[in-house]
Amino acid sequence: MPALWNLPDFDAHEGVHFFSDPASGLRAIVAIHSTHLGPAAGGTRFWHYADGNLALTDALRLSRGMSFKNAMAGLPVGGGKGVILADEARTKTPEMLAAFGRAVESLGGRYVTAEDVGMGEADLVAIGRETRHVSGLPVDEGHAGGDPGPSTAMGVFLGVKAAIRQALGKDSAENVHVAIQGVGSVGGGLARLLAGEGARLTLADVDMGRAANLAGELSATTVAAADILTTEADVISPCALGAILTADSIAALRAPIVAGGANNQLATPEDGDRLHARGILYAPDYVINAGGIINVTLEYLGQGDRAEVEARLTQIPGRLETIWADSASSGETAARVADRMAMALIGR
Ligand code: NAD
Repeated sequence: MPALWNLPDFDAHEGVHFFSDPASGLRAIVAIHSTHLGPAAGGTRFWHYADGNLALTDALRLSRGMSFKNAMAGLPVGGGKGVILADEARTKTPEMLAAFGRAVESLGGRYVTAEDVGMGEADLVAIGRETRHVSGLPVDEGHAGGDPGPSTAMGVFLGVKAAIRQALGKDSAENVHVAIQGVGSVGGGLARLLAGEGARLTLADVDMGRAANLAGELSATTVAAADILTTEADVISPCALGAILTADSIAALRAPIVAGGANNQLATPEDGDRLHARGILYAPDYVINAGGIINVTLEYLGQGDRAEVEARLTQIPGRLETIWADSASSGETAARVADRMAMALIGR
């Protein structure tokens, strides 16, 4: 294996920390990409990896992504990510979470953790017994913080509307056809907000019952998960997995807009070029889906109530419009413009 700094995903990360606690079985990585704007903030993923190198790759990539996301959200925090290497059965114990809490605490506030895949609010509460550098804890009504999903969904909703304005010249989502891939926390919340404005919805989820229930509630249509990206629609909204925009899937798209909440939608940077070449308006994922991190970061900083979170969510459309305007004048793709802006913000 090459030295850490020769790995393809190493991007001058400020620190990459490996933790092991034999007593609890914890094995974890915390990657701190940048603290230029403040403590490195980003959730912890609890996942079974076929080998440790894949976990390291995830930590390196995701922490860099958090630097970009937090910077573009205008937050006074940098980017980091935690990864806990689970066994195949994904056994999670209180001892393991406590050991991870101590690991985070040992970094002295340079890294602030939160929820990610495989982690829930109760896990964060357990981690929070060992460190105060954690966000996404339960909060009282009216305060910033708690479940990031609804804030993410609201930010994506505002971003989808901005895209509709930009590409279709319409001020409302009424009668606009939006196809949503994945109707969990983010996609489901987005569907409800769009339905409230009279949008026409096509929904898909690998959990077909989940899509069917929501479709019943919102008078929407469902299609099989395999068919959602090729649905003829005004907007394709990826709200499930990453890396779904590939050479093949982009060639098959039948919509003028891609705007959704999933992280890392582009399989490779060239896929942003492919969307651009087809004239499809793309909302860079980490800009449109920043609502959740805005919510939990304000909670950690003790800086806000719901009204402050909402005020910051309303800035997401303007950021997207700035990116699209730059893309139109520079000829660079929206994805590359967003990266360039984020890098400048983190002093790179
Ligand atoms: P979730 O687990 O609540 O929902 C995801 C849904 O997608 C599930 O219903 C799942 O069955 C479905 N799904 C999985 N694979 C699918 C496929 N191939 N086709 C169709 N549906 C599929 O997760 P979530 O919190 O809603 O997050 C969704 C995406 O948004 C993820 O990429 C996540 O990283 C990203 N994101 C979430 C937040 C947040 O605040 N929750 C913030 C930023 C980004």
